[in-house]
Amino acid sequence: MKSTGSFDVALHRNLIGGSWVGSTFLPNINPSDLSQVVGEFATATADDAQAAIAAARAAFPGWSRSGILERSRILRDTAQEILRRKDEIGALLSREEGKTLSEGIAETIRAAQIFEFFSGEALRLAGEVLASVRPGVEVQVTREPLGVIGIITPWNFPIAIPAWKIAPALCYGNTVVVKPAEVAPGCTWTIVDILHRNGLPPGVLNLVMGKGSMVGQALLDSPDVDGVTFTGSVGTGRRVAEAGARHMRRSQIEMGGKNPLVVLDDADLGVAVEVALNGSFYSTGQRCTASSRLIVTDGIHDRFVAALADRMATLRVGHALEPETQIGPVVDAGQLEQDLDYIAIGKAEGARLVGGGDLIERPTRGHFLAPALFADCAPRMRIMREEIFGPVAGVIRVRDYDEALAVANGTEFGLSAGICTTSLKHAAHFRRNTEAGMVMVNLPTAGVDFHVPFGGRKASSFGPREQGRYAAEFFTTVKTSYQAAG
Ligand code: NAD
Repeated sequence: MKSTGSFDVALHRNLIGGSWVGSTFLPNINPSDLSQVVGEFATATADDAQAAIAAARAAFPGWSRSGILERSRILRDTAQEILRRKDEIGALLSREEGKTLSEGIAETIRAAQIFEFFSGEALRLAGEVLASVRPGVEVQVTREPLGVIGIITPWNFPIAIPAWKIAPALCYGNTVVVKPAEVAPGCTWTIVDILHRNGLPPGVLNLVMGKGSMVGQALLDSPDVDGVTFTGSVGTGRRVAEAGARHMRRSQIEMGGKNPLVVLDDADLGVAVEVALNGSFYSTGQRCTASSRLIVTDGIHDRFVAALADRMATLRVGHALEPETQIGPVVDAGQLEQDLDYIAIGKAEGARLVGGGDLIERPTRGHFLAPALFADCAPRMRIMREEIFGPVAGVIRVRDYDEALAVANGTEFGLSAGICTTSLKHAAHFRRNTEAGMVMVNLPTAGVDFHVPFGGRKASSFGPREQGRYAAEFFTTVKTSYQAAG
């Protein structure tokens, strides 16, 4: 422990080849209370990243041939420990990222469920035996681990995303170097600590924390990494794709969104308002699946905007750990500046600010922003085209369903899309014709299950899907073997 004067702050080191290492640290600041340091986290160098990759490479032959019972047991024990400690880990998540405590605990439970799911998958990996077109020959199709996996994660789901990348990587016999976002490394550190104590052999899972441009880039530049799975912004995602092409290596890239929620005249107004409120503003709008474009038909438009504004006015923004808080703070000063910039851009573009958008004072100094709703938005406006990644949404008025669908699809992104309607015909048509990887009917665009595929289209995603059984597409490589029957 290191004393900071007012209270003690734990030092968290990197894990390389089974040893905790690191001598320079950066403080992790609580966005609900800028005077509070959540912990001190080691900053790795490019050399540390190389050492971690070498350790993962050395551990690969052993782990890739390890018994499936051992892998399953470690993943199951990890799930159970995360679940046992859900209140403590959920509070850590809320302190470092700013989600409300109930959101933090829910995300922690989800991480446990992911480890549990892949503890089962470790026992279920199957191949195929086929007859050959050549008599007397047998064909087997099997899946083998890919090798050393580089995992690079964002700050906004600081435990769920590392879990849904680390668990399948280990389940299928890969070794790992993981680099969490510098703003919120504590949850990844905690998962790595649990897996390490639950018996992972040295080098199988390595943790390097620190700057993306140095540590993350070192993973991208290394020819010894066999696959990179990344979640984050489009700009960084493009770098991951380019490096993948350079090294002829597999990439799995999940990026931003500008997700539409269509509200039709025949929607249940109460359902539509709650779906929009949740999808646009919960988790402070900092979700890649957030509904930032509310596309509303003429007949319900005015009632919808008025009812949503009324509901927004009741939302309690505040310290993430206070029980009455419904919207926690923005994650850091940089993101807050981006949100405020876009609110100013929206006004300058001629959108009408219906409510919110101002900074809020609370007893502690934090990044508190009232969720903002714009009306009279046009599809061409920057606030309707670019990802803001904060509690800011805009309403676009449309004539009818056909125009709503065209506006919904008129984006470079394609992660999640939603519709609120009581019409079976429109719901079915929207499910078939939306250009998104995930589609929700009378449900928020954000909020997904852990056992089914997750991912998008267009600029939102590149490479195979994440989660569920589909995770095997990225984390394994297929081998076709032929044998003469003798
Ligand atoms: P980011 O791209 O800034 O950072 C993501 C990670 O990449 C961090 O760990 C960062 O350190 C690292 N990084 C930065 N520069 C790098 C480089 N040159 N080389 C290698 N790694 C580097 O994104 P962020 O601000 O942490 O996260 C927000 C973004 O993530 C939003 O765009 C959001 O939509 C997206 N996101 C997408 C999904 C999804 O599944 N589609 C989920 C969550 C978040």
